[in-house]
Amino acid sequence: DIASPEPADDTELAIEGALRPASLEEFVGQHKVRGQLQLLLDAARIQDRPADHILLAGPPGLGKTTLAMIVAHESGRPLRMSSGPAIQHAGDLAALLSSLVPGEVLFIDEIHRMARTAEEMLYLAMEDFRIDIMVGKGAGATSIPLDLAPFTLVGATTRSGMLPNPLRDRFGFTAHLEYYEPEELEQVIARSARVIGMDLAGPQREEIARRSRGTPRIANRLLRRVRDFALVRAGGRAATLEDVRAALELYDVDRIGLDRLDRAVLDALVRRFRGGPVGLGTLAVSVGEEADTVESVVEPYLVRIGFMGRTPRGRIATPEAYAHLGVAHAAHGQT
Ligand code: ADP
Repeated sequence: DIASPEPADDTELAIEGALRPASLEEFVGQHKVRGQLQLLLDAARIQDRPADHILLAGPPGLGKTTLAMIVAHESGRPLRMSSGPAIQHAGDLAALLSSLVPGEVLFIDEIHRMARTAEEMLYLAMEDFRIDIMVGKGAGATSIPLDLAPFTLVGATTRSGMLPNPLRDRFGFTAHLEYYEPEELEQVIARSARVIGMDLAGPQREEIARRSRGTPRIANRLLRRVRDFALVRAGGRAATLEDVRAALELYDVDRIGLDRLDRAVLDALVRRFRGGPVGLGTLAVSVGEEADTVESVVEPYLVRIGFMGRTPRGRIATPEAYAHLGVAHAAHGQT
């Protein structure tokens, strides 16, 4: 999906790599988080020790991986990348941790999806740079303590609420990444256009920014589709505003940047469930999507733009959602 905040494939990941800012200075927006991270890194540098563990929380595509790379780069330390789903046994984590060099930055993406047994090993590792390795089985099992090189853990999660408290508490700093303002996305787009050697005027950048769902990953992707459009349909001249609109329409991105799944969820909420309240599980099943995806990818944005509300009794649609879908807003209980 063109407007999905998740990376599409390896090719896209490679392109994203080229577009990633390499320093906090170049990182657009998130002023508060940037200031907090800068202080943390400066303090570590003065004391010549690895920085405290950092948790990055927020929806996909907002810059968590980029920030992890910046942390390593700015502190002049090597970076090791892993992810929760790749750590299915405590042994996977033990192998990873015991191979770190002193001061290394360990990035674990989707840290909420790590195996439970590994989580427990991580508590001790984060706190004391030590793990206990179990050897043998049953009554003869013994645990052998192993000292680790000091490291900085950077964890990323789209679901900070799903992290067990003991894990959350062991991070020295948690950064909550917010959706970007259109003006900030415009800066991301201007920078990316420069990097890919594309000539794009202000109003065109603005239009893409407005339709990027508050997400730099989507802004960069829409930019590339506009570039394609100008290349193929417009003979390679600079994209006009009409080109931008036509390209985005071609890819089903609506006027305010909602993608197909966003619209499916809204549509189910408004038409099928008459505005709610409806439970997350029911809503997810009705659009054929995992509850997890609806909760961590779709809902945060719909709530943020004021189209959906979360109540103790379930999800509800706001009058703004009705207006966007062009559906008359019948008062509850009158249908
Ligand atoms: P996440 O890990 O949160 O899913 P990424 O760090 O992979 O997101 O970012 C996705 C894309 O968006 C990358 O190409 C990255 O360069 C770009 N990006 C994200 N945040 C910013 C930012 N603040 N400034 C510039 N580019 C950004």
